[in-house]
Amino acid sequence: MKKVRKLLLGIALIFMLLGVFIWYPSVITRIPFSAPEAAYQNLDEILAHPQPITIRTYSTGINQTTLGGIMNLEHKKAQNIADKVIDIPVNVGLVQHQDFGAYLIDAGLDASYVDNPYGTNTGIMVAPYLARGSQEPNTHIAAILEQEKIQLQGVFLTHLHTDHTAGIVDLPKDIPYVTGENERYANFRFFMHNDHLAGIDELQEIDFAEGIDLPLLGKAIDVFGDGSFWAISSSGHSAGHVIFLINGVDEQVLYTGDACNDHYQFETGIGPGTYSSDLEGGQEVLERIILFKERYPEVKLVYGHDLKTH
Ligand SMILES: [Zn+2]
Repeated sequence: MKKVRKLLLGIALIFMLLGVFIWYPSVITRIPFSAPEAAYQNLDEILAHPQPITIRTYSTGINQTTLGGIMNLEHKKAQNIADKVIDIPVNVGLVQHQDFGAYLIDAGLDASYVDNPYGTNTGIMVAPYLARGSQEPNTHIAAILEQEKIQLQGVFLTHLHTDHTAGIVDLPKDIPYVTGENERYANFRFFMHNDHLAGIDELQEIDFAEGIDLPLLGKAIDVFGDGSFWAISSSGHSAGHVIFLINGVDEQVLYTGDACNDHYQFETGIGPGTYSSDLEGGQEVLERIILFKERYPEVKLVYGHDLKTH
């Protein structure tokens, strides 16, 4: 009996150690993002006071995926839409504020996608589950920043899925990286492993409970405290997904990330698909974006995986 018990204990210990070994790369220190007080209290006021901020969108490569991955084909409006393979750009937003400098929204695909369709991702779940990426040389975001001699001040992430974090491997590490609260980072040895966040000491997390309520869109943080750049809670595609409002003098933009992947999703009103963690939440967020656009048609919509805008 004793021998059997020892053997079982030994096996349990081996499994525990193996579990820690697999899970450990996902652990990163998280600290709260300290949000300034909001300069304005509602969307009418915000949009009536545009600020010296701009955004440009770059495609860092192409992901080959399926329509059902980005769009819920079980939706009643999708009855006549068949699943198919699609090519979608992987966007990054470059935000530049006259006083606060340059920030990114997402990091896109890194330089390794020029030679490898899975970039730095390795593990048994990569080929069955991840989209195949491709990239022309020098179109990753770090190359673009260098060509334009832009000094990056920080990176805001709509969420931590691999096509949005990959480009971090080419970026400086001594700047803030900011994500939404409760956003999971899947990085597991043997299964799906990429170490995109390696070298970053800590992730800053936005706690939207501290934000103000912007009816139509949801809880929001005034990132710079001057009404120019707003992070808005949009849990659905992923638990801590964030969309961004860029309130510029030249143009006002809602950057939707994967809360609305492309113009077709916006036009059909069919929410995110199988890549999303919460289909109902994702549908609800998309409907909020559609209502927002109806109320504020002057605000341009820029999508996470489309170069066409609305
Ligand atoms: Zn994506």
